[in-house]
Amino acid sequence: MRKMFEKPRDIMLYQERTEEQEFGRAKKAYRICSKCRAVYFTKSWHHIDAIDVAKIKKRSTLWVTRCPACQMIADHQYEGALTIKDIPKKFADELLHLIKAFSKRAYEKNCQHRLIAVTKESQDAWTVTTTENQLASKLAKKIKDVFDRVELKVAYSKQPDDVERILVRFKPYLSLTPNKKH
Ligand SMILES: [Zn+2]
Repeated sequence: MRKMFEKPRDIMLYQERTEEQEFGRAKKAYRICSKCRAVYFTKSWHHIDAIDVAKIKKRSTLWVTRCPACQMIADHQYEGALTIKDIPKKFADELLHLIKAFSKRAYEKNCQHRLIAVTKESQDAWTVTTTENQLASKLAKKIKDVFDRVELKVAYSKQPDDVERILVRFKPYLSLTPNKKH
């Protein structure tokens, strides 16, 4: 049995680690966001409940940092901007609830996908900013699905800033809609 280790392919195992292996090892380091407590491992950010923090602290270094989403918010930046215009007053509460619930679900799935703010631009227009561009466009589609008579336009920012700008416009509602099912 001992002879087996003398074969060239076995000796290979005892050679110095390649740069790639070292880099791979370095990636196993953990990071924690000081603001939202998200943790970084296996190349992405996760909710803290995905790991056992006490166990990690014993075994490896847990660097305290700020996650990209928290950094983006601190820098007053965003990746998705959804403008909603001509919001009928009677749907405002329902719309706000939909935006919050939809974003909460997105955050639960991925800690980096967040609603930053819902800004009231005027009496019937809001701007919704998100940390992730796909979240803004998915939210726009959801609004279109839930409320009928909604127009949707997607425009990519001209500057090279990765911001996806989406416009949702409510079409005028008639006070009498006899064909509408309730
Ligand atoms: Zn964070």
